Amino acid sequence: KKQGREMSEEIILSGPPETEIEDLRNCLGEHFVQRLSFLGNKISQVDPITGKSYTYKEILSLSLKLAEAMRYGDTKKNWHIGTGNYVGICSENSIDFALPVLGAIYLGAAAAPINPAYSKREIEHALKISKPRVVFSSKTRLNDIIEVARSTDFVQGVVVMDEIRKTPHVKQSVESDSDGYVISINDLIHSESFVPSIPFTMDMPKVHMKDQVALLMCSSGTTGLPKGVMLTQFNLLITLFHQLRSDHEVLFNPDDVTLGILPFFHAFGLLVLLYSLFLGMTMVVMPRFEAVLYLESIQKYKVSVIITVPPLAVFLAKDPRVAEYDLSSIRQILCGAAPLGKDIQEEVENIISKAREKIGAPPCNLIQGYGLTETTLAVTMCSNKAKKYGSIGVLAPGVQCKVMDLETGKSLGPYKEGELWFRGAMIMKGYLGDAEATATTIDNNGWLHTGDVGYYDKESHFYIVDRLKELIKYKAYQVPPAELEALLLTHPAIEDAAVIGIPDESAGELPMAMVIKQPGKELTEAEVVKFIADRVSPQKRLHGGVRFVKSIPKTASGKILRRVLRESLKSKL
Ligand code: AMP
Repeated sequence: KKQGREMSEEIILSGPPETEIEDLRNCLGEHFVQRLSFLGNKISQVDPITGKSYTYKEILSLSLKLAEAMRYGDTKKNWHIGTGNYVGICSENSIDFALPVLGAIYLGAAAAPINPAYSKREIEHALKISKPRVVFSSKTRLNDIIEVARSTDFVQGVVVMDEIRKTPHVKQSVESDSDGYVISINDLIHSESFVPSIPFTMDMPKVHMKDQVALLMCSSGTTGLPKGVMLTQFNLLITLFHQLRSDHEVLFNPDDVTLGILPFFHAFGLLVLLYSLFLGMTMVVMPRFEAVLYLESIQKYKVSVIITVPPLAVFLAKDPRVAEYDLSSIRQILCGAAPLGKDIQEEVENIISKAREKIGAPPCNLIQGYGLTETTLAVTMCSNKAKKYGSIGVLAPGVQCKVMDLETGKSLGPYKEGELWFRGAMIMKGYLGDAEATATTIDNNGWLHTGDVGYYDKESHFYIVDRLKELIKYKAYQVPPAELEALLLTHPAIEDAAVIGIPDESAGELPMAMVIKQPGKELTEAEVVKFIADRVSPQKRLHGGVRFVKSIPKTASGKILRRVLRESLKSKL
């Protein structure tokens, strides 16, 4: 997809350029060690259920010890985690989640999170992409992780994540471990087979930050099955710095308390965790969404910043229980990952601002950001000063954008709708082991084709209007239709199938299947729904139901015409 004559094109630019970051000599791990040491005894992570917390110093010391342990392994192991290796993490959000992530980064390795709600089939798919040498797992998924990991020839050990104790050498019994394949994180951290280097520092391998992958995140991109998005140390550093030194205004500061509610296995949630650590906020980490715990935590810990997704904004706007709690501490809300209705944006702001008025505090601001796993974090963000309801904001520092006409392939000026393309230091390195998907997503000139349709106004504020790509977003979770379609085609009574998203107020979209039955075969909607539910994680189920159809519109080359399907369904509904 080569673009000629770039100089005459409409390109929307944003400053400052990437060279603003003067310190690119250090590796990302060293930047983190500097920040965490500086933040010292401040509380970093809090578990609202157990009340357990970690200071920044504790996070630093435990993550360094864990890194040393991963580098050397214990007596039975020979892991030698280092540059180019991957470390799998399958866990709900917890205050320990940051430890293997940071540990991997210190070693020049990459953390590869796995959705803890994944089915065994999905876990297997994820592990086959990253081929991690070690997988950290919470107890809830331990048995499945062990079973899948043992069936591979690359995973050399499984680490049980829960419960780090401060007292060393109290052996913790781990089920199904007779050959030392499974070890608890506590035993690993306190393993005797290595001597931690000088406290609070370690000898980190020199890496080339622009090449070295730090995170491997899961995304299906514009088409096909979930893939491994390679985010480099440079992608992360530039993102963390730019959010800290945004030209627009300082949105967050170290005195802020935030919630770790977005799943850490998703890029948005994990980047918010890393950003919170880098900036020095206190994060109240929630393993799952529970309405009462959520509201109680905001009230108890005086949460000031909420980084959220549309379904949770809808909850704040609509749930009657919200009125029973004091939420006046919330001064800033940032919402992304899926479209947020203008009405909900205003409603949430009004509810919280009224509570703040009673204590004489300035109004709460809810702004939108927009990004993809493939762009590390938000490439556009609104500011409080120049907020426009319904807009995803202006370009983040150092990002360039073109709006491409869908018919002519030419770049467009203001108020014209087209596909959004982005370029800049936040764009991923590519999809691991998938050069073809990488080449169709990032063109020869470095533009990332998002598959989203939008436009910008005369003040360069952007708006999203449609999604061109296959992706369905159910409660902001990715649901790749190609994965469900491939599964449906394995059913003996199904001749053909297409999956699309149907609009829904609280979930955003619901995955729905159009199914052509095999001639002469009996099949009910409930059977199809169960067939999928038995094989995928809960968010990918057919929440929008099943419709039996006679034909599925396709292009001459056999591609499903999803827009035609969506439009025809819209008119029927
Ligand atoms: P993910 O990689 O899971 O973060 O999904 C990225 C996709 O989510 C984008 O390509 C958009 O389709 C959608 N998305 C993210 N943020 C927004 C937003 N603020 N408004 C509308 N859609 C969004």
